Amino acid sequence: MDLIVRNARLRGWETLQDVAVGGGKVVEIGAVQGRARHEIDVEGRLLTASFVNPHVHLDKALLAERMRPNRSGTLEEAVEITHEFKRHYTIADVKARAARVLEMAVATGTTLVRGFADVDGIGGLTGLQALLELKREYADLVDLQVVAFPQEGLIRHPDARDLLGEALELGADVLGGFPWFEYLDDQARAHIDAIFELARRHDRPIHMLVDDAPEDPTTRNLEYLALRTIAEGWQGRVCASHACALSSYNDYHARRVITLVRQAGISVVTNPHISLILKNRGDHQPIPRGITRVKELLAAGVNVVFGQDDVLDPFYPFGRADMLEVASFTAHAAHLSLPEEIERVWDMATEHAAHALGVADHRLGVGLPANLVVVDAPTVVEALRRQGPRRLVIRSGRVVFESRTESRLIRAANPEPATGRAAREAR
Ligand SMILES: [Zn+2]
Repeated sequence: MDLIVRNARLRGWETLQDVAVGGGKVVEIGAVQGRARHEIDVEGRLLTASFVNPHVHLDKALLAERMRPNRSGTLEEAVEITHEFKRHYTIADVKARAARVLEMAVATGTTLVRGFADVDGIGGLTGLQALLELKREYADLVDLQVVAFPQEGLIRHPDARDLLGEALELGADVLGGFPWFEYLDDQARAHIDAIFELARRHDRPIHMLVDDAPEDPTTRNLEYLALRTIAEGWQGRVCASHACALSSYNDYHARRVITLVRQAGISVVTNPHISLILKNRGDHQPIPRGITRVKELLAAGVNVVFGQDDVLDPFYPFGRADMLEVASFTAHAAHLSLPEEIERVWDMATEHAAHALGVADHRLGVGLPANLVVVDAPTVVEALRRQGPRRLVIRSGRVVFESRTESRLIRAANPEPATGRAAREAR
């Protein structure tokens, strides 16, 4: 045995358990006898499968540290600001920023990340090459899937098509798509067709950003994506991010689309915090939330998960690559607040997100890969409420992050420092 985590609270177990790890896998759960080279007592904290971030633009991350302000707060201005940087991207610059975000992710319990890199005639393949290098250099800490993403469109920006092919030959894991950015519906369909043609030629999964305009109930990417997924036999290999317009369709049409999405085995990735900020900015009250129909998709049996999308970039002024924070946003924005719904949110951040990325068995179990996180709380609800530091992060059986924080409340009338639960919660 390489490692024993003692006195962990596990979901679905009444009492504290030990979790033993060897050869990169969980080998025993229970009152573990014997010793390991490395033992850590987590004193009743919750241990679960680690977090997964299925959608983050690593090439743009942290640009907000040096960009001019996005004065309108709109997507259009964000794209404009991004262009100013993208023209001058260097591999070293993209790597330095993306590496910081990967380190933030690992330190908050994420061990599997799907990172997007723009591929177009403006920045060429620079962002993608940077992420591919980072994938190798950070392989001891995190699994990084690199998406070749046509951020400028394929019809609007025909250079991107050949570049996408080159990106896949260089080793991009996933083929991105951005049909809703094209001007016309026919062009959006042509974009989706072109992506499937490339995906088939290079045998890659697809991750498209679709219908990201809740203001426009006429945008119809998702249903066409679902039809093409079924026609191409790509079921289980396609993710659709955003799908915000689904909320603007009438209920009848929305139900038809949701049924198609389920048949196509498409995973839907919502990014509620981004949508809450970027979408419906010009609307009059009552202003919609701008996110997709999370609950209806879940009820229909669609795999719905959520992503960080942006970290401190022209599109979003916040974010710290912490999926616990994104989970809390999702719970709020999608009305997931009943006890079983909150447990579902945790599954979405862990096992279900991994499933969306084509990774099976991302859960705690004997014989399964030891990709684990210990949060500073005894339950899922408390973890979401407290948003505390991660005590331990384990990737492929190895401890990749550990933290110990000490804090205390100091009362004026009583100089004795408060200790125990109250002090822990005060952090
Ligand atoms: Zn995105």
